[in-house]
Amino acid sequence: MFEEKNKSTVYGPVKSWRFGMSLGIDPIFEVSTCSFNCVYCQLGQIQDITNTRKEFVSTEQVITDYKAILQAHDVIDVITFSGSGEPTLATNLGEISDEIRKISPDTPQFILTNATLLGDPTVIKDLLKLDKVTVKLDATNEELFQKINRPAMGVSFKQTWEWMVKFRSIYTGEFEVQMMLMPMNKIELGELSHRLKILRPDLVQINTPKRPYPLSWHRENRGNHENIFDYKVSELKTMPKDEAQNIVTQLEANTGLKFQIFN
Ligand code: SF4
Repeated sequence: MFEEKNKSTVYGPVKSWRFGMSLGIDPIFEVSTCSFNCVYCQLGQIQDITNTRKEFVSTEQVITDYKAILQAHDVIDVITFSGSGEPTLATNLGEISDEIRKISPDTPQFILTNATLLGDPTVIKDLLKLDKVTVKLDATNEELFQKINRPAMGVSFKQTWEWMVKFRSIYTGEFEVQMMLMPMNKIELGELSHRLKILRPDLVQINTPKRPYPLSWHRENRGNHENIFDYKVSELKTMPKDEAQNIVTQLEANTGLKFQIFN
């Protein structure tokens, strides 16, 4: 069942209560590639851990796949750039966005990014075109960043944070922060509150990852929310819901921001 679906650079749509029918665009596709190698990544161990940008799949291929999906589904409410790694690594991200806009001018375009390339003016230019940018912020210091996100050589928390703040100051679209809470992430609530107040996101999405960590790469895990595994996985130590809720309650009180817990 998964095989056919996973030959396409466009996956879904997945029905979500927040956005309706949501379609994923994967500009990475062939090999899982990211500037992080997060301990909880649903893709499993990242095959190519790098912060060097390149074109992974042609814009033409993505647009062909997109048109094929549109033929099969009448309603697509939103598209999200995500998939087999960090989407801003794709040098043709902006071009793909433009081409999709020509076909579907009214469909909002979102991206989920780890923010490690926000120092690149071309990446900034590409992201400014999008309707919503969600940045990943799991750590509050270098040590946790290295332990949880396990970034590519030369990628630091300090630099990524500075770029995130700078991007936030110029981005006028919807801006969200996504954070993973897990027992190994000993975040300092005061420090996190301070940083969130600087970022002023429209929403902070809190996730408590529960899905086992795949020990090998399976493209079906782009956007797959089902716990069906016929390959080796290792269990994650998860944070109990009430503990996550306590943290969120304190963060809400400290920051006055809007939070949402996704389990
Ligand atoms: S940033 Fe996303 S794609 Fe990259 S390793 Fe982390 S969870 Fe996986």
